[in-house]
Amino acid sequence: MAKVIIVGAGGVGNVVAHKCAQAPEVFSEIVLASRTVSKCEAIAADIKAKQGRDIRVAAIDADNVESTTAFLLAEKPDLVLNVALPYQDLPLMDACLAAGVDYLDTANYEPPEEAKFEYKWQWAYQDRFKDAGRMALLGSGFDPGVTNVFCAYAQKHLFDEIETIDILDANAGDHGHHFATNFNPEINIREITQNGRYWEEGEWKEIEPMSVHQVYDFPVVGPQDAYLLYHEELESLCQNIKGLKRIRFWMTFSQKYLTHLRVLENVGMTSIEPIDFNGQQIAPIEFLRAVLPDPASLGPRTKGKTCIGCDIVGYKDGQKKRVFIYNTCDHEECYAEVSSQAISYTTGVPAMIGGMMMVTGQWHQDGVWNMEQLDPDPFMDQLNLRGLPWQVIDLPLE
Ligand code: NDP
Repeated sequence: MAKVIIVGAGGVGNVVAHKCAQAPEVFSEIVLASRTVSKCEAIAADIKAKQGRDIRVAAIDADNVESTTAFLLAEKPDLVLNVALPYQDLPLMDACLAAGVDYLDTANYEPPEEAKFEYKWQWAYQDRFKDAGRMALLGSGFDPGVTNVFCAYAQKHLFDEIETIDILDANAGDHGHHFATNFNPEINIREITQNGRYWEEGEWKEIEPMSVHQVYDFPVVGPQDAYLLYHEELESLCQNIKGLKRIRFWMTFSQKYLTHLRVLENVGMTSIEPIDFNGQQIAPIEFLRAVLPDPASLGPRTKGKTCIGCDIVGYKDGQKKRVFIYNTCDHEECYAEVSSQAISYTTGVPAMIGGMMMVTGQWHQDGVWNMEQLDPDPFMDQLNLRGLPWQVIDLPLE
């Protein structure tokens, strides 16, 4: 029985709070803490209405290490489950160390002033977490998160040697807006306007943003336009999957989405450089975020399905083989269950399961860990039980 503090009351925080509340045998006490406490209260009221369970709420500024540490010392949780923004990762890790609490997140640290996400800042905490006898679990969302666990499962059970991995993320849902991002627009646009990158034969190869494309025939959602992007799980997987020769990440985008994005980019609206506007400094992308639909508002209007998985080629018993390990999720079913679309759902469920792995001791070990470094089996079992069932299919070799 554990006490968890969930930090962040956005789209993902909503799902994590609902899913933790659905597991009272694991999370006996839940506090939802965020910058805007009214958002926490709205989520708490929805959980009460849907499940009859009470959770507590609190206002915190997770950028402030001192006040967050004091909050954690007073609350004494077993785990901080960070689903605020990547900018809060390091301050929250510092506060967890100072207060002696385990830590989990779903996205790696990114400095606010530079669109560059990397694990190096968080991996640098390895000795401090080990010495403190605390655990930090990094990237326990879907991608990163479940995709890392799929790779670990393939390495453990399906292959003797893995040669290539292609991670494919398709959202075939439709929310009816001309343009909206499915999660935090600033984070989403920063991710896809960077150069693409993939890893091959020990080296990173860089490409122009969105310049490499394929039509991939997904199970359930069918053929989709998929674009090669850099994604954070590549950084740890290329180190932790032995014998790997190449790993790439692909995300699907409709032509309509790309056209809007191109225009916004061309007119300078995706820039993170602040400009002077009537004596006020404003980063255009922050302003854009304010005018775009709030991702949390997409839930009731999104229809269709997601399909995210790993297309893996390698050898088993001397035979070359190719598999696709994947999950599909239905936006409307997610909304009916936890008042959220599938993008937040597919992130929030694994965050809850990662927390469960830690507080039940199944994954507990001192230090800072990426998901594929831990035993995939208990996590894979929970995916089937907690709303993200997975399948493995054999594919023909190309
Ligand atoms: P939202 O923008 O919807 O929510 C972020 C929440 O964090 C908001 O409630 C916000 O408060 C709160 N917050 C921001 N700054 C602070 C602060 N200083 N102190 C306290 N709370 C703060 O984002 P999402 O829910 O869509 O995403 C959450 C995280 O999940 C992000 O890090 C994102 O990168 C990650 N993610 C990971 C995925 C994966 O598969 N691994 C996929 C999708 C997202 P306020 O309400 O006041 O703005």
